[in-house]
Amino acid sequence: MTDDICGKCGYDLSASSVMGTCPECATFYSKQSGENIRGSQVNRAENWLGRAWGIALIVAALITLSCGGILATTLGRAKPLAIMAVVAFVLILAAAATLVRDRPQP
Ligand SMILES: [Zn+2]
Repeated sequence: MTDDICGKCGYDLSASSVMGTCPECATFYSKQSGENIRGSQVNRAENWLGRAWGIALIVAALITLSCGGILATTLGRAKPLAIMAVVAFVLILAAAATLVRDRPQP
């Protein structure tokens, strides 16, 4: 188990909240994503998995949209494409939410 140490100044963040700014140097940190936390390889892997999941959702959305297009062409109706487009839109929203999560505040 790794200690939660500020990646910039080395301040002990173990008593601090999961996400926030370092009390010592005001650097943004996230224990969840491992951002600006010293030696948090496991947390970085988790963050990478989160991004992979976001990309997988985008791929799923594109496949859904393609299936809707094929169905609409085969059946000669626009309704399946409209339904698939809504599903794809929801998947893209979920992907966007996954990808922007744990980003530092401006
Ligand atoms: Zn610091």
